[in-house]
Amino acid sequence: MMTKSSIYITRKLPEEVIEPYRKLFHIRMWEREDVPVPRDLLIKEVKDADGLFCLLTEKIDQEVLEHASHLKIVANMAVGYDNIDVKAAAKLGITVTNTPDVLTETTADLAFALLMTTARRMMEASDYIKADHWQYWSPLLLAGSDIHHKTIGIVGMGRIGTAIARRASGFGMDILYHNRSRHPRAEEQLHAVYADFDTILGKSDFVVSVIPLTKETERMFDQQAFEKMKQSGIFINVSRGGVVDECALYKALVKKEIRAAGLDVFEKEPIRKDHPLLQLENVVCLPHIGSASVETRMEMARLCLENIRNVLNGEEPMTPV
Ligand code: NAP
Repeated sequence: MMTKSSIYITRKLPEEVIEPYRKLFHIRMWEREDVPVPRDLLIKEVKDADGLFCLLTEKIDQEVLEHASHLKIVANMAVGYDNIDVKAAAKLGITVTNTPDVLTETTADLAFALLMTTARRMMEASDYIKADHWQYWSPLLLAGSDIHHKTIGIVGMGRIGTAIARRASGFGMDILYHNRSRHPRAEEQLHAVYADFDTILGKSDFVVSVIPLTKETERMFDQQAFEKMKQSGIFINVSRGGVVDECALYKALVKKEIRAAGLDVFEKEPIRKDHPLLQLENVVCLPHIGSASVETRMEMARLCLENIRNVLNGEEPMTPV
């Protein structure tokens, strides 16, 4: 009888996702849903694993990979894979997969909701009423910025960026975008206009970061970038915190060089309540929930397991990085 391949899953997942794979694989799983697996245990567990299902809370570097002498696949439950040393994996013949597409629309929903919440000061307004400050209707009480017919500048016009652009188009916004390469379909269908980074910063009412974190994009939103934005400009980040110099962002907000920021991601996650950006009224912070709808998270988990199944069966993975 053939022995089953072995999979290690770094977070407790709902049984309904795992159950169909139990007959195929010997599955071991970290016992907590809310806390990442300790690194020393991860290193111990990958030793005998043929497949690793991990999250962005795990750093899958050379040290982890070298301990995993049987490992054939690392399936990351995220589209970004800056937590994985992809080059080291390739050298060791280990396939790396991610979860593109299944999270695109959900993340674009969150990005647009964050943009609207920040522009229209909805968190401040909600806190105001909860603090029992509401006395009268006043002409400029909690007045924010318009969204419709303004200019959105999308930095990273890929899958999620394009889905955000579709939403912006419904609001009659002018769409600028920046990539290394042109996106002809977005130009034709959404009338998006290609621009260099500085033009995006200078002309946009909303600068939205949806760019992957790489060596080239690390801290691309720095002091100079924020200085180039309009004073009325709003910065939204739903990609990775590492693309922003948070100190420069904080200064730009305090000095009123830009009007507000909406952030789903941070340089070092999780942030704590004494984080400087959390002290500012004109900042909306979310705990990295871009793809967090129940439906999408279940799809992401299934896609990881399908990728593992394919690779361990000697087939092509559905979404290699
Ligand atoms: P994608 O389809 O690969 O899009 C990324 C875009 O960025 C591409 O259009 C790419 O175009 C552009 N780009 C990459 N490097 C660049 C550079 N150095 N300069 C200029 N443009 C560059 O990825 P996606 O699926 O839209 O996801 C984007 C990112 O969102 C992910 O990497 C992840 O970090 C983040 N994300 C966050 C959440 C969340 O929960 N907040 C959820 C999902 C994804 P070119 O190749 O032409 O440059």
